[in-house]
Amino acid sequence: MAAVERVGASGWYILGNEVSAFEDELGQFIGNGHVVGCASGLDAIEIALRVEGIGPGDKVLTTPLSAFATSLAIIRAGAEPVFCDVDNHGLLDVTAAEQALTEHPDIRCIVPVHLFGHLADMPALARLGEQHGAIIIEDAAQAIGARRDGHPVGEYGRMATYSFYPTKNLGVIGDGGALATADPVSAERAAAIRNYGQSGHYVHDLMGMNSRLDELHAATLNTALLPRLSGWLETRRKNAARYLAEIDNSAVTLMPGPDQGQSGWHLFPILVEASRREDFLTHLGNCEVAGGLHYPTLIPDQKAITDRGEPITLGDLANARRFAHGEVSLPIHPYLTDEELTHVISAVNQWGG
Ligand SMILES: *Cc1c(COP(=O)(O)O)cnc(C)c1O
Repeated sequence: MAAVERVGASGWYILGNEVSAFEDELGQFIGNGHVVGCASGLDAIEIALRVEGIGPGDKVLTTPLSAFATSLAIIRAGAEPVFCDVDNHGLLDVTAAEQALTEHPDIRCIVPVHLFGHLADMPALARLGEQHGAIIIEDAAQAIGARRDGHPVGEYGRMATYSFYPTKNLGVIGDGGALATADPVSAERAAAIRNYGQSGHYVHDLMGMNSRLDELHAATLNTALLPRLSGWLETRRKNAARYLAEIDNSAVTLMPGPDQGQSGWHLFPILVEASRREDFLTHLGNCEVAGGLHYPTLIPDQKAITDRGEPITLGDLANARRFAHGEVSLPIHPYLTDEELTHVISAVNQWGG
């Protein structure tokens, strides 16, 4: 509330000191350089693509299992998404990606999604990108502050993009997003694109958009939310560790991810038999446990995509479909009490008996 009052009293509401201060702080937190705030995670991906010159005529390799925004940003930038399958963690599969890059030499960019807060296999994807002339933009909307084998988000990508949608790990009281890059020139271009392509007062060298992070959001992020993020991530990891240790039901497959101790644990996904998922969700509902689905329909199967014509996909996306039909997300947010966690664990363990 102090941050809100401060901004209200300042009389300066768009692109001022609060936004620059937050961009600096977030840059220090994530440790890979220059941060540019914008209006949403969707816009952050579109701006990143445009800064890197990805647009009409270009193909972009991505995952069919994500928030729709990942592909929407690619299409809004004017490029064409190519969908390949995910691995057993639900992350872009390296073998499938290699096949896609070989079959489509005109893929110029890879957008892996760090789904559930688990990092994709970035060293392998970076190697593939280098071999096939494709840059990498990491969709890290679910993975702020996460690592894999000691390597942080954004280390391998040209850019990493974040969302501050209220339910995200760093969620604000409204919409917001950001991108981060080690390259100061790219950051400058991104800052221009978010503000009508303006590089100086009334100077427009680039086609831009209106996608600014509000001073109010930057102030609450910087004052009240970002300082708590490390603690929240620790609590998410502890919650995940309890579920992994105490859920014991042969009808439920746990998915610890590639590095459970360093994941952002935005979601806690489990897998059940597709034919029994409805029953499981009903059981959770009866126990007053809110289960989520991430994501029940693959992006290339959405009407907005198929209406454009046949989407470019590699193979039958069998693993992604296994998630679409069998995944359930358990509550994992940092304000769950020990009793609530115990309650969720016993609800899951009692199912199916
Ligand atoms: C939430 C999310 C987005 C979009 O972020 P918004 O701020 O809602 O636009 C993009 N990608 C992924 C993986 C997300 O989870």
